[in-house]
Amino acid sequence: MEVIPISQNHSILGLPDLVVERVDRRRDIHVWAKPAARPACLACQHSPVRIKATYERTVKHTRQGNQLMVLHLRVPKYHCPQCNRYYRHPFRGLRPRLRATDSFRLEVFVPMMGA
Ligand SMILES: [Zn+2]
Repeated sequence: MEVIPISQNHSILGLPDLVVERVDRRRDIHVWAKPAARPACLACQHSPVRIKATYERTVKHTRQGNQLMVLHLRVPKYHCPQCNRYYRHPFRGLRPRLRATDSFRLEVFVPMMGA
């Protein structure tokens, strides 16, 4: 385990609003992160909402040298006590159905297009 300062976390991940919980350097770099803040209800803006459940989502994020960074993201599912809706945490910079984040895709696809 390795402790890195907050400001460095943001430059490593390139994703806003994330708190890094753990970094594990193996063959690849594994980073565990979770949302820094609980958003207000997406439907009615009620705050605070309750965390109903949390699941982990794994995305390949970016490369440092030739190491792949694997992001293990804790994704809370919220319940709004006011309008009774359930919804997942909305991540900026992370698309709902793609396995890689925007910065990883850029890094992978831009050199291929230039070749
Ligand atoms: Zn609500």
